This record gives sequence, structure tokens and C-alpha cells, in this order.
Amino acid sequence: MEQYSIAIDGPAGSGKSSVSKEIAKILNIVYIDTGAMYRTVGLYCLRNHINLDNAEEIEKALQNIDMKITLSEGKQTIYLNGEDVTETIRTQQAGKAASDVAVIYAVREKLVQIQRELSKGHSVIMDGRDIGTNVLPHATVKIYLNASVEQRTNRRCHELMLLGKEYNKKRIEYEIIQRDENDKNRKYNPLKKAEDAIEIDNSNMDMEQTIKTILNIIKQKINV
Ligand code: C5P
Repeated sequence: MEQYSIAIDGPAGSGKSSVSKEIAKILNIVYIDTGAMYRTVGLYCLRNHINLDNAEEIEKALQNIDMKITLSEGKQTIYLNGEDVTETIRTQQAGKAASDVAVIYAVREKLVQIQRELSKGHSVIMDGRDIGTNVLPHATVKIYLNASVEQRTNRRCHELMLLGKEYNKKRIEYEIIQRDENDKNRKYNPLKKAEDAIEIDNSNMDMEQTIKTILNIIKQKINV
């Protein structure tokens, strides 16, 4: 079968990564999580006390970041200057820092180049904010996965509850709204639905239903 690519974009908490990981396993293709790369740059800046409002400082820091990514079906491991940070980047702070560094052109340029390289030579499912609009403009299937702020807040609270962590629902909701604002209104490659993407609102769907819906769309386009 010919190589194909699936682009999944959407706001924080819409379930993109869980769904993409699962679909990668089902179709036996490679999953690429682009948010992890912005998080890794964000983590480096947090650790090195780099001012997240200062584009020049962040651009300088980029030169000291060696990012390596390994891929296998459904699993991506990411290394920051030789250290495996795959789990370390999964915090709210790293997510917020990711969103701050993601506004900077030089950061996007570096990461988009890595993403395009990683997509070569095999079928992929890649999730992020600008995959259908910018990274893979000729993706075979483009999905824009959306959900209400209320549902995304509830999901995040549920995750934290399962982890046994304390949380403040109002605070989580505020952070989600802020992240949406940041991602949709930045100058370079903001979060938006590609013209040829299919939008799915999964506010009233569980993970299984979302996966089924997306697989049906994929099967209409590709003989998988
Ligand atoms: O998806 P995740 O929450 O891990 O992404 C963290 C942040 O990285 C996003 O809020 C967004 O600002 C940025 N990002 C981006 N472009 C992508 C993926 C993530 O700007 N393709």
C-alpha cells in the first residue's frame, strides 16, 4: 500500500494524542506527537530560567537544545541533550511554557523541519496545532478534533483525580481558555481548522466513539 499521512489538529484537551496513539497501533503506523517538541523547548527554558516573554533569549537558547526523537508504532521517545524527557514534559507548567515558546518563529522553524523529516519514509499520524495547515499541507486525511471548554475541563480534572492530584476546577478552566487564546491568536501558524479538514466535535463522545468516527473517515479515503 502507498504511504499516507493523517493530520490531527485541535485545542488542548480534545483528546488528540490519546486518539492518535490508539489509531497508530490499530493501523500499525508511526505516531508523531509534535506538542512534545514544543514542551521540550519549554522545559529547557524553565530549567534554565529563560524569560518566556523574551524572544531573543529563547532564540539564543535554541542553539543549546539538541532534540532527538525515536519512533516506534504508537510510541515516541524524546531526548533533550541526551536525557529522556518523555514523561518530564507532561506537566501543566511545561504545557504553558510550550505555548509561550510556540509563538516564536525560530522555534517553529526548527521544530517543523524536524517534524517533516520524521514524517518521511513511512505512513504517519501526526498531532498538533498546525499539522494540516502547515507541517503536512498535503496530508491524506485531515481531522480537526474539537470539544467544548466545559468537557475539556472535566476531562483534565478527571485525569488529575485519577492521578490522585489536587486541583481547582476554575483554575483548570481558566488555563484551558488562556491556552486556546494563545494558540489561536499567535502570528505564526495559529491553531485553526485547515480548509480541507473534517471537524469532529467529541464533547459528547467517549474515546472509543471518537476513534471509531475517525477510523471511518480514514477508511473512506484510504484502503486500510
Ligand atoms: O499538544 P500539547 O498540549 O502537548 O502542546 C503544547 C503546546 O505546544 C500547545 O499549546 C501549542 O502552543 C504548542 N504546539 C504548537 N504547534 C504544534 C503542537 C503544539 O504550537 N504543532
